Amino acid sequence: MEMKPTQVPERFLKVIEEQTSIYQKRTSITRVNSIPDQNQIPLDNPVHWIRIPSVICVYVDMVGSTRLSASEREQDTARAYQLFTGTAVRLFAAFNAAYIDVKGDGVFALFDAGMPNTALAAAVTFKSFAELEFVQALKRDLNVDLGAHIGIDEETVLVRKIGMRRVDGRYDRQNEVWAGKPVNMAAKLASLSKSGQLLASDRFFQRLKDEKVLRSCGCPSGQPLDLWERIDVKQDARFDFESAWLLKTRWCDRHGAEFCSQIIGLDRIDA
Ligand SMILES: [Zn+2]
Repeated sequence: MEMKPTQVPERFLKVIEEQTSIYQKRTSITRVNSIPDQNQIPLDNPVHWIRIPSVICVYVDMVGSTRLSASEREQDTARAYQLFTGTAVRLFAAFNAAYIDVKGDGVFALFDAGMPNTALAAAVTFKSFAELEFVQALKRDLNVDLGAHIGIDEETVLVRKIGMRRVDGRYDRQNEVWAGKPVNMAAKLASLSKSGQLLASDRFFQRLKDEKVLRSCGCPSGQPLDLWERIDVKQDARFDFESAWLLKTRWCDRHGAEFCSQIIGLDRIDA
């Protein structure tokens, strides 16, 4: 089957034909070991992609954002999005995420494979902010119940920039496209978890080895406890792994800062 000029006006058909002809070409894929700088991500040649064998994605999503409406509660909506999204982007940057982007009412951050503990520390820091600041502030000031949930996955990605128009040597309407599982799966894991929860895929969880990320500091009883609970997702066709791992806790108000720094340090020792 092919589309005809009698079916779609010619100027639109031309766009479709151009893209279809790119699709028919052979793709060239360059393999790299870590997430490249944004200016190193290919843009010009439409069949050139970069493959990164393992990338960690932390996805944070606002729960209850449909309770905000830009038409009726413009002030509240603007402030809530700024607080949630603005904090996520800046926190992930402070944790040295290699790439950060906003997607609807969510934010995702990509970390190199060598940084599983840092990625987790970033997620738990955002989780602590969401519970202790974001949820409370929105309830107190705007009387609206919002929340946050978080997903983490790690897998292979292909990336390139898909740009549209070249104007004065620069592309207009271009964006990085991260093809592969981690961003999608992390978003689905986030959507499966309840407000205030973090859900990680089994393949990411298996990267966590240290007691500090697996067991609590021991507060308040003095007895360190397992932090993660296994969730069976075998029946869920959206996932290609059988287990996910649930974390409900946030940073301890006595030891959190110390733990956070030590957990980031674990990646430096391994590197
Ligand atoms: Zn503690």
